[in-house]
Amino acid sequence: MRIALVGYGRMGRTVEELAQAEGHEVVARLDRDDAIGTVALAGAEVAVEFSEPGVAADNLVRLAEAGLDAVCGTTGWQGDLERVSEAVEAAGTGLVHAPNFSIGVALFSRLVCEAARLADAQPEYEVLLHETHHRHKLDHPSGTARSLADIIVDALGRKRRWREEAPDEAADPDTLLVGVTRTGEVPGTHVVSLDGPDDRIELRHEAHGRLGFARGALEAARWIRGRRGVFTLDDLLRDRFGTPPTD
Ligand code: NAD
Repeated sequence: MRIALVGYGRMGRTVEELAQAEGHEVVARLDRDDAIGTVALAGAEVAVEFSEPGVAADNLVRLAEAGLDAVCGTTGWQGDLERVSEAVEAAGTGLVHAPNFSIGVALFSRLVCEAARLADAQPEYEVLLHETHHRHKLDHPSGTARSLADIIVDALGRKRRWREEAPDEAADPDTLLVGVTRTGEVPGTHVVSLDGPDDRIELRHEAHGRLGFARGALEAARWIRGRRGVFTLDDLLRDRFGTPPTD
């Protein structure tokens, strides 16, 4: 594939490293001050967008207007999904977006869903979610933690909502608390705990580095070509794992 990287930070560079190792060609590297236009895209077949929450939606609209399929891993822009979807539909291009492109996290999400369904019948178990990321991360909780929290609240009848945990906050039975830690260079760790009177069960996903995200993003870049419309990683994964239990 001929790939344009939009956002050339930690993730953009990791995607480049893996793309080149897999024999793809990176034909454009666009960052903060580079305009997205047909010339800048230099014959790319697909764009991979990892930038910042405040700019990703504008980038995705411009990529659609330039007629390019895109994969977007940036988190924290989904409030603008409707505007982006309209641009993608109007252009007849394709977009896959996901807060986490790791296939391992997709498996983890399915395990968490099953755990929450089992805990639903065991009210003595309190369910908690905690995420840890490097100190440069701009949004909190992480996009992955938000998605896991939605899965847990949907599966667990006794939780009506989730909320980021404030320091020293006591558990409220209706609310799933999401703990957040920002420290060092941690690529991303998510832990779901079922805390009972006699024991504690933990499900933990720990990324070893950024390559897992890049691998999923490149897989999505292959998958989106020839498709029209807006998709998430779940659409791709249904082809691989079948329908998830939440559907
Ligand atoms: P980073 O800060 O290292 O890189 C972001 C880059 O975007 C920077 O180089 C910045 O200069 C650039 N940028 C700023 N404005 C831009 C613009 N208008 N157009 C193009 N580029 C612009 O961050 P990162 O660690 O590479 O993460 C990027 C995003 O991806 C974050 O939102 C992060 O949460 C998310 N992320 C997602 C996944 C996933 O699997 N979906 C994995 C890791 C990180």
